[in-house]
Amino acid sequence: MTLQFTVAIDGPAAAGKGTIARGLAERFGFAHLDTGLLYRAVARRTIDGTPAAIAAATLRLRDISRTDLRTPSVSEAASKVAANPEVRAALVAFQRDFATRDGGAVLDGRDIGTVIFPEAQVKLFVTASAEVRAHRRWLELTNAGHDVTEESVLADVMARDKRDSEREAAPLRPAEDAETFDTSDLSIEVALERANAIVAARLEQEK
Ligand code: C5P
Repeated sequence: MTLQFTVAIDGPAAAGKGTIARGLAERFGFAHLDTGLLYRAVARRTIDGTPAAIAAATLRLRDISRTDLRTPSVSEAASKVAANPEVRAALVAFQRDFATRDGGAVLDGRDIGTVIFPEAQVKLFVTASAEVRAHRRWLELTNAGHDVTEESVLADVMARDKRDSEREAAPLRPAEDAETFDTSDLSIEVALERANAIVAARLEQEK
């Protein structure tokens, strides 16, 4: 039996999108695409000297499985290349194909429910205060061995939020019909349980 079912999860950096997306994918057997990796991989290639539009047009799967994409410098470069409409346009087809794959898909990013796949059966907007997100990201980075201060991570998060929300091409904002989760005072586990319930109810309607 074929199942075409898409969950779109958007929100700012370190709000918990990735954890919720992975949890939903595991629970329901959906494929998961972290679309931030596409922009990070393009950024990585620009740091290596390839022009952004060319890097996006020729992106290969092996570029997004590189292990050096989660550094602060790549995060910053990613939010810069992500404002380039040519870069965004080059990445649309891959994301839409992924969203319509058989068996269900979860995509997380900034514009999945608004631009990439507004037809998604479930749309979530996951957010949290900048301080809470910076604290989470700082813990992740220090656990991974990066020597960064919490203040510098907060400054980076706020600069990225501003760039992502104020750009003209596909700015970060909730889709009108998205369910918003603020994880500032909500554990990611509880948010995931809520997301599980929303997806389960929507899948039931599809039967
Ligand atoms: O989600 P992540 O922090 O890995 O994304 C890195 C950057 O890629 C973001 O700051 C944002 O500028 C960009 N991005 C985007 N649209 C997406 C996913 C990520 O513009 N769908």
